[in-house]
Amino acid sequence: MSGNFDYDLIAVGGGSGGIATCNRAGSYGARCLVIESDPVLGGTCVNRGCVPKKVMWYAGATAHALRDAVGYGFDVTVNGFDWTALVEKRQQYISNINNAYANYLGKNNVTTLSGYATLVDKNTVEVDGKRYSAERIVLAPGGYARVPDIPGKELGMTSDGFFELTEQPKSVLVLGAGYIAVEIAGMMQAMGSQVTLAIRHQSFLREFDHLLQEKLMDEMLSEGLHVEKGFTAAKLEKTASGISASGENGVTLEGFDAVIFAVGRAPATDGLGLENAGVEKDKRGYIPVDKYQETNVPGIFAIGDVTGQAELTPVAIAAGRRLADRIYDNQEGRHMDYSLIPTVVFSHPPMGTVGLTEEQARAEYGDAVKVYESTFTAMYNSFTPHKSKTAMKLIVTGSEEKVVGIHMIGLAADEMMQGFAVAMRMGATKRDLDDTVAIHPTSGEELVTMR
Ligand code: NDP
Repeated sequence: MSGNFDYDLIAVGGGSGGIATCNRAGSYGARCLVIESDPVLGGTCVNRGCVPKKVMWYAGATAHALRDAVGYGFDVTVNGFDWTALVEKRQQYISNINNAYANYLGKNNVTTLSGYATLVDKNTVEVDGKRYSAERIVLAPGGYARVPDIPGKELGMTSDGFFELTEQPKSVLVLGAGYIAVEIAGMMQAMGSQVTLAIRHQSFLREFDHLLQEKLMDEMLSEGLHVEKGFTAAKLEKTASGISASGENGVTLEGFDAVIFAVGRAPATDGLGLENAGVEKDKRGYIPVDKYQETNVPGIFAIGDVTGQAELTPVAIAAGRRLADRIYDNQEGRHMDYSLIPTVVFSHPPMGTVGLTEEQARAEYGDAVKVYESTFTAMYNSFTPHKSKTAMKLIVTGSEEKVVGIHMIGLAADEMMQGFAVAMRMGATKRDLDDTVAIHPTSGEELVTMR
């Protein structure tokens, strides 16, 4: 460790990536500083993303369970849903996580600093006029929600604004077609709002396997959600009946209490002073890194959403921990492997995916690809008034039938995915799945009994 600097490692950003890197480095004895511009630690995931999202998703799932209870003999009368009370409890839960982060960092002797950090040179950052130096710097500032530059855009909100809502909007327009759009649209509809999801093309989540896109569309429509296809908002206006959105195609959607933009995110690099240290950005503003997360400037690393690679919390955490393992625990060569990253969309019902889509597999392996597919009604849904389908797809290639893609949508798909992702990482073949004894009765057994 170098004694010429204030710290061994400074993390710019106290979100999942920066915290994970410093906690791990600190546990090996490195002197670390985490700098966060928000008043609280945790970043997007904890404060305005995964965590509050999952709470709201559970609320949606609970609403569905109450609706479904009659199928299991319960005579339930729901007297109301208190959004305000739920949000208060949710924020308390988040505040506990913020405190836990601070405690855990303290245990690893990581110092934290509140303020906006700007690079001064390759070893120095400035926060509120004071300079801090380190042998190495890891940039983990994350990203922010983009807002389309259209007239009336101030009438809309992003996912940040969604998490600030203390009252439930009755009628909501969600603009966008990615993870955040379908998640917010699904949970709002489940919690009793009337939701319109406006997408630019004919489908959403277009990078996912077609099976998942189609089944989720069916499910969302059957939940009463309105999906407006081929709609790109050109203007928002306030009218007597609420907010209206006019599309480039001349269609107007109107009468909304809230309009939520979920059109993607951008890297938070403005004001970081990258130019002072010579750190390059790509055309879209992301910071390119090598497989060791190192930028073009030796000793300056970048992890998480700011690198534009798989913008997922566990990816930032894993990249940060491996970086710390390599540098501060001499685990030579250790680095993040960006292949086979499993991911779940917390739609209603949830969907999970790992590996190649059928389209990608066919492009890569041609006729060597074989697809096993199954659509069925999970036992739970055999009793419920609202019928929901579960669908699974297993994509294999070659004579050994190596599994190259697993996709599923339906009850518990979110919880099933993790174990199958382990199997795929270990190189599972169809025979390995066949040789694994099924757990009965579950939905997961379908994946080990496909023919
Ligand atoms: P995404 O990049 O997932 O999706 C945004 C989509 O919005 C685009 O793909 C595009 O789809 C559409 N879009 C772009 N511009 C416009 C526009 N002007 N008008 C209407 N639609 C537009 O972004 P998100 O913001 O949803 O999520 C950001 C990232 O956060 C995700 O990539 C994901 O990695 C992460 N995330 C992960 C979650 C999870 O793990 N469960 C949950 C939430 C976020 P099209 O081209 O089809 O129109």
